[in-house]
Amino acid sequence: MTAVLIDGKAFAARVRAEVAGHVARLKADHGLTPGLAVVLVGEDPASQVYVGAKGKQTVEVGMASFEHKLPAETSEADLLALIRRLNDDPEVHGILVQLPLPSHLNSDLVINAIDPAKDVDGFHISNVGRLGTGQKSMVPCTPLGCLMMLRDHLGKLAGLNAVVVGRSNIVGKPMAQLLLGDSCTVTIAHSRTKDLAAVCRGADILVAAVGRPEMITGDYVKPGATVIDVGINRIQRDGKSKLVGDVDFASAVQVAGAITPVPGGVGPMTIACLLANTLTACCRANGLPEPQGLTA
Ligand code: NDP
Repeated sequence: MTAVLIDGKAFAARVRAEVAGHVARLKADHGLTPGLAVVLVGEDPASQVYVGAKGKQTVEVGMASFEHKLPAETSEADLLALIRRLNDDPEVHGILVQLPLPSHLNSDLVINAIDPAKDVDGFHISNVGRLGTGQKSMVPCTPLGCLMMLRDHLGKLAGLNAVVVGRSNIVGKPMAQLLLGDSCTVTIAHSRTKDLAAVCRGADILVAAVGRPEMITGDYVKPGATVIDVGINRIQRDGKSKLVGDVDFASAVQVAGAITPVPGGVGPMTIACLLANTLTACCRANGLPEPQGLTA
């Protein structure tokens, strides 16, 4: 058996096109342009690439992009003052502070200074609590992208056994909350889980967010299961630099019913969902109906 490929790149392009359509209507009907502010502190090369990609795609869907690049030695007081200004700016509907921050800055303090209604990363403690209690919230982009792909591929998820490997605050835990919200029976596995392979083999939906290259092999996969690989790991193979997931694609694809590739799976969906969240935030801020299918 060879699994169906879930094409995140193509799906993300569809989501961006949908967002662009809504943005055009917001402009035409209400004179509104959704705006996303991205704050980058320091010169971390990976973060610079992410921020560049976010800015480019923001403009491509017709939104306003505000980039704030600050030196690595920026003080907490100055960063908090910028966030307060962005909170008060009516042209800014979404605020994202690129993580990780330099070590002298307290990430929790900084993230919790963002107006929760503009917290398009969904990391503010108020949004975390809202997601956990089933209230309307801003949902973290990567798990939201995974949920959209699962709904698109499987339809209703109710009653399915879902195993999420990884319990981070940015992927594993919100992913589990979203699957619970769709009435899956959810297990969260982590580094202390006993007989991880057996736990994973109980999954109709297996989400790998581990940060360990190709750890989840075909032996962990129930025949016909849907496998979502969140991992992004750069490895050296045959003298070349290569991106691989947390799933061993070659063996898992033989067992799974459907699987996301790396690259081209979850990755492209993350920025698409950031744009969807910014659109949602703009609609909420202006008392307009939210676009359907772009939120949890
Ligand atoms: P973290 O390092 O924060 O969390 C990893 C989780 O995996 C932890 O809960 C850890 O358990 C668990 N884990 C580690 N080793 C094992 C093991 N041997 N067996 C079982 N569980 C294990 O990572 P993130 O959640 O931030 O990211 C996970 C992956 O997703 C990474 O590859 C990252 O690059 C990628 N990522 C991709 C994104 C995208 O846009 N596609 C966005 C964000 C992340 P414990 O808690 O017990 O230590």
